[in-house]
Amino acid sequence: MAEIVLKIKEISKSYRSRSRTVEVLDRISFCAEEGRSYAIVGESGSGKSTLLSILAGLQKPDGGSVLYKEKDIHGLKDAELAVLRRHDIVYVSQFQDVIPELNLAENVRIADCFDDRVAEDAQERTERILARLGLSDLKEELPENLSGGEIRRLTIARAIYASPKILLLDEPTNDLDRANRRIVTDTLRELSGQGITVLAATHDADLASAADEIIYMDRSFSESR
Ligand code: ADP
Ligand code: MG
Repeated sequence: MAEIVLKIKEISKSYRSRSRTVEVLDRISFCAEEGRSYAIVGESGSGKSTLLSILAGLQKPDGGSVLYKEKDIHGLKDAELAVLRRHDIVYVSQFQDVIPELNLAENVRIADCFDDRVAEDAQERTERILARLGLSDLKEELPENLSGGEIRRLTIARAIYASPKILLLDEPTNDLDRANRRIVTDTLRELSGQGITVLAATHDADLASAADEIIYMDRSFSESR
């Protein structure tokens, strides 16, 4: 059996504002295995983005824990968590956060700015990832000259460039046409084939059915294939 890389234990989360309390996650538990892909599926508002942001360490749950290599990620110091989020658990937001002054290829390689040493094959790896996502011809373009779908693929390329162990993606096929949805779906399958654990929140039936397992948010159970 494959190794378990992420243990999610009884995660709960509510949001409280002056006018309401929304109980979003109620004791969600599951384990994610190395090299397996998971689609997180559920109606809008069912807590998919909340769950992913907790798995990425961006916000703390009210209760429960997220164990990566037997360590609770929410117990790490900020600096440790920052390193973990650069190399191990990489998150692709639903929102398209790019640096407007950098061109597409520079945005993809942004992680190099934080590391002391750039890998020898960095250039070649960038080219390969850009080609896989159909972005080669656009590598020198600034974000303002790119479409929403091209920026979506840029953010996925940037996450792949970081060589994560766990890749978390929030609605990764939003804004994409059919051909590019297919490219992203196939790419995510290839990544899990290479041993990366992929968790993607999605409304896209094709992406969900390509995953090894579907996690349904509304009914708190998961189904294996
Ligand atoms: P999904 O990604 O499945 O659409 P979300 O996790 O974004 O669901 O949201 C789940 C619920 O939590 C929604 O009802 C949303 O309005 C609420 N919510 C999300 N973020 C916040 C927040 N920061 N403050 C208050 N309520 C929030
Ligand atoms: Mg969402």
